[in-house]
Amino acid sequence: MKKGFVYLVGAGPGRADLITVRGAEVISLADCIIYDRLANPALLRFASSDAEIIHVPKRDGTGLFTQPEINKLLLEKAFSGKTIVRLKGGDPCIFGRCSEELAVLAGAGIDFEVVPGVTAAIAAADYTGIILTDREYSSQVVFVTGQEAPEKKQSNIDWNLLAKFAGTIVFYMAVGKLTSVAEQLIENGMSSETPVALIADATLPTQRMVRAPLSRISDTCKHEKIEPPAIVVIGTAADSDARLNWFIKKPLFGKSIIITRDEQGNAEFAAKIITQGGNPIEFPTMKIKPLMHSNKFLRALSKITEYDWIIFTSSNGVKLFFEALHSLGKDARVFASAKVAAIGPKTSEKLNEFGIRTDFVPSVFTSKELGLQLINCANLQNKNILTLRSELATDELIELLGQAGATVNNVALYTAITNKCPTKSLEEKISKDRVDWLTFVSPFAVKAFFEQIPREIVKNSNIRVASIGPVTTEQLRKLDVKVNVTAKEHTIDGLLSAIEASL
Ligand code: SAH
Repeated sequence: MKKGFVYLVGAGPGRADLITVRGAEVISLADCIIYDRLANPALLRFASSDAEIIHVPKRDGTGLFTQPEINKLLLEKAFSGKTIVRLKGGDPCIFGRCSEELAVLAGAGIDFEVVPGVTAAIAAADYTGIILTDREYSSQVVFVTGQEAPEKKQSNIDWNLLAKFAGTIVFYMAVGKLTSVAEQLIENGMSSETPVALIADATLPTQRMVRAPLSRISDTCKHEKIEPPAIVVIGTAADSDARLNWFIKKPLFGKSIIITRDEQGNAEFAAKIITQGGNPIEFPTMKIKPLMHSNKFLRALSKITEYDWIIFTSSNGVKLFFEALHSLGKDARVFASAKVAAIGPKTSEKLNEFGIRTDFVPSVFTSKELGLQLINCANLQNKNILTLRSELATDELIELLGQAGATVNNVALYTAITNKCPTKSLEEKISKDRVDWLTFVSPFAVKAFFEQIPREIVKNSNIRVASIGPVTTEQLRKLDVKVNVTAKEHTIDGLLSAIEASL
């Protein structure tokens, strides 16, 4: 019988894109992913759609797993011949009980690979400008657990040595033990004035740092209601230069932003929000439904060399078009001498990926401007134009081109259908003012969102609404929803800039 293979993978400290390239790669290879409480579920995006996903939280209360149960599960899956990713927060081998899991595998003769991850201590320090080693004050760093195995009779921690340690001490799992940690260190001779920094939720939009001298850190954390997971840094390093505390200065730091595109669009949008320190809340209002098997599309494609201009109005459309083209055994040569126009830079970039240089992109990225500006710079009299768009696009562009004397064949490449999402938790977040922004990038998303979430909940909250452009804004106004910002540049980047500018 074929034995499986286990990858023990470090998920990194919190933020999903801090996983290693190798880590992301092996997740995509896995038949089965067994992941911990501290591994960011956003990493499951790398997984193949048919991978089995098993969540094994150890402490959370519901659905608890004990370590022996996890070991057993690993073996069971490995013996069924599967490729398994065992995904653990931070680095798998730093306070991760990995020796137990690896010993079980080794004992059963199952091959494995360990993929390192960025451990919480290092990430927490780097994300707050704390420098763990410094040639002046810290030539050594020690990682200590605040939570030793409960069955252990005697502590392995040498408090006397730690109290005199000339360097940086980093505690994991110590939030509930701060009083005793401080007492033991002070009793053993460490100055009660030693600087301490505690960093909770490092690398996440909820990251917080609290600093106090050793004798007061426990009270300060209680007062600030600090919750685990948190890292505690003790020593001169904790007294870091506030100017180096860079992450919390990101423009969207701590802001929760609802995103309402389709799943794939949301993924792209979410990554941008995370980069700016924000917290994306995904509510995929729609699914894209390709329409490229329609006779109209196939007919247009068979005559594509007869068009003078071919117009794309979304990167989605470009992607779907080329998928259909390739599936028919054709490639970009079908465009022959036709000129190609794109509504904006994203659509143009997508065309570029498929080897097409656009001949025209308007300076304002709306259908209307595309029409008006194209008419201004090209003679469209008696020209044949093919527009490849969403079924839901308005007629404005077609009418403008027609008025300029062109013959337009408008072909729908795709349509959107409403995607039903669970609403309860989102409604609660909005009504408790736990969300800062609600964003829309199309009128369809507006409709699909408010079909599911009552308008009153939004209106009675302090949430602010951001729209990508005038057409989407108009749709919101029709529904009597107040729009706080409309992007000047009608792209995702433009939308985020508009939000940032209004803060
Ligand atoms: N293997 C993990 C550590 C697991 S022990 C690693 O290498 O990071 C769990 C402890 O890690 C938590 O109690 C906390 O001390 C720390 N931790 C994990 N994620 C954290 C985060 N995002 N911010 C602060 N501390 C974190």
